[in-house]
Amino acid sequence: MIRDNLKYVQEQIKIHGAVANRAISDIKLIAVSKTKPLAMLQEAYDAGCRDFGENKVQELVDKMEQMPGDIRWHMIGHLQRNKVKYIVGKVFMIHSVDSLRLAEEINKESAKRECISNILVEINVAGEESKFGTSDLNENLNLLKNIAKLSNINICGLMTIAPFTENAESNRIYFKKLHDFAYNEAAAYLPNEPVLSMGMTGDYGVAIEEGATYIRVGTGIFGEREYTI
Ligand SMILES: *Cc1c(COP(=O)(O)O)cnc(C)c1O
Repeated sequence: MIRDNLKYVQEQIKIHGAVANRAISDIKLIAVSKTKPLAMLQEAYDAGCRDFGENKVQELVDKMEQMPGDIRWHMIGHLQRNKVKYIVGKVFMIHSVDSLRLAEEINKESAKRECISNILVEINVAGEESKFGTSDLNENLNLLKNIAKLSNINICGLMTIAPFTENAESNRIYFKKLHDFAYNEAAAYLPNEPVLSMGMTGDYGVAIEEGATYIRVGTGIFGEREYTI
């Protein structure tokens, strides 16, 4: 099942990439494996996945210890400062940096471990109250400017979580907004070809058309999640 799902997602990446005239190699798939058992991650690994996304520190670290060492782990969930020490130097990228205080903590731990941490600044493009980060342009520019001063942090790009919707097209404006912000106002603080982490199972096609370089797909690969409360 996972193998077939991956094949389908890869085909969609090609189709939507072609619509926007983009090189397929510029669009990377992160398999979001939160709540899923190791056996399923292994299945995705065996089918070729090397990028995995998790949203909880403990779960990420547990899985990392038990999975092959060549996986790039992405922390995509809200990160508390007191948990930074468990993942710095271990994860490939932290997608969810939404405050200067969090960035400073990551910087401090990175200096301690003599490493540079790859991060993305999370932008709440739609300004939803339920989400982290802000949609305020000046606030985001200030945040980028201040994080850019931290010597053990490498700002690779931007990340956003678009609103939950049944209609992917309605999120197009938000993806476009993140792309435009990255290439205009924020360009001074980002690499020339910044990472844009945007698009999930319901809307990654549209995100690709608007410039996503990382798409984060969970349900579309592993099936629905069951949460026990
Ligand atoms: C869970 C999650 C995803 C994947 O969501 P799906 O709709 O299952 O593809 C992507 N990004 C973040 C930040 C998530 O928490």
